[in-house]
Amino acid sequence: MTPLPCPWCGQPPSLRESWWTFGYECIPCGVRRGDESTPEDALRVWNTRTPPPTKSAQELYVQRYREVYGTQPDITEQTHDDATWDRMRLHLDKVEDDRESELARVYREFTSLYQEATGHPWQGVGYGTHQNVSSWQDLINNVRPKAEQRRAYKAFITRAKEINGAAPPWPWDSKSTLEWIAETNLLVQP
Ligand SMILES: [Zn+2]
Repeated sequence: MTPLPCPWCGQPPSLRESWWTFGYECIPCGVRRGDESTPEDALRVWNTRTPPPTKSAQELYVQRYREVYGTQPDITEQTHDDATWDRMRLHLDKVEDDRESELARVYREFTSLYQEATGHPWQGVGYGTHQNVSSWQDLINNVRPKAEQRRAYKAFITRAKEINGAAPPWPWDSKSTLEWIAETNLLVQP
């Protein structure tokens, strides 16, 4: 049996003899273990490592829940076996995946509408850190009418050019979406 490396620095330890006792020591770290009567006992003591405390399945679930939702789960009344806690924890991964993809979807929808409404790309925050699904949804609801109005105006311009050969001079925001649609329909008339 050989001495395990020092758990802190990974260097091999040295056997240390002090009067009639033995121990192992990592000189760089100053870590000493063992005050034994034989070198064999000193080796056994040095090589006996206390394993780090492992988290229970329930603790792992609680930790993951806090990561996903940012709050403590209400588990005061619940007792489950380890397999059930593990299943619940793995389900949280799916919840997070779904939320991520939902977040990405509303973000894409918003940036596309924003560009349509303003004529230039969104240069604000990304979806990863600053917003949740419902706040992007609110922004979508704000920007959508403008995007639709502009879309209707573009359809009008395209149709007017086809018929008259030139774009009319009106500013795009002088009419509502429905008014632009009506104007476009009027152009279709012979
Ligand atoms: Zn060390």
